[in-house]
Amino acid sequence: MSQPTAKLRVLLIEDQRAQAENIWEFLEMHGQVMDHAADGQAGLQLALENDYDVIVLDLGLPRLDGVEVCRRVRAEGKATPILMLTARERLEDKLLGFEAGADDYLTKPFELRELAARVQVLHRRMQRLSPAVLMVGDLELDLANRIATRGGQQIGLSPAGFRLLEALMRKAPHVVQYNELAQALWGDPEHDPARLHTHFSLLRNAVDRGFAQPMIHTVHSFGYRLVPPAAT
Ligand code: CA
Repeated sequence: MSQPTAKLRVLLIEDQRAQAENIWEFLEMHGQVMDHAADGQAGLQLALENDYDVIVLDLGLPRLDGVEVCRRVRAEGKATPILMLTARERLEDKLLGFEAGADDYLTKPFELRELAARVQVLHRRMQRLSPAVLMVGDLELDLANRIATRGGQQIGLSPAGFRLLEALMRKAPHVVQYNELAQALWGDPEHDPARLHTHFSLLRNAVDRGFAQPMIHTVHSFGYRLVPPAAT
């Protein structure tokens, strides 16, 4: 039985233009939201700035090779699944990639359908490994049962509120930028900050009203962050 395919945000780091365009177009046609970098340095920067569901990473890249990109992504604590691409079927290359933190490997030339399938598999594996309940301070979000509580009291959230709170909790106490919130909410990083603000005033009401210390903080012109109440 085939599993439904999720709409994923995929970063493609590939210097060969024709190859990159093929992959980009194929995955986009299958509903993925694509970002692309043509060298290792630019790819690393995107990988660290954003939250992708999967990174497709070529091994041979200008400025910073794929193994080094992989190593630095992991060194920064990012667990984004990484699928490495290489032109050579060499065991040493694969071992080097896995050591650096790659999750899967594909040797060129490959079928685009296989690439698309592996991207989905990596994403599903990651979801299974992620915790089913997120906790920040006295706030808990049960992802499987769609229940939010603060201080043991259930909080009523709209589906939009739930997605925004999940995005905030996953990065807490770090700031989540407008484009990431728009991606979480609408599956599209293009955003209208005014619409986000409306959702956030509702979310604030649900999460912070009646509590001495608010957890949702505005980072002006940038985004929002969730901070656990200071221990007293
Ligand atoms: Ca290359």
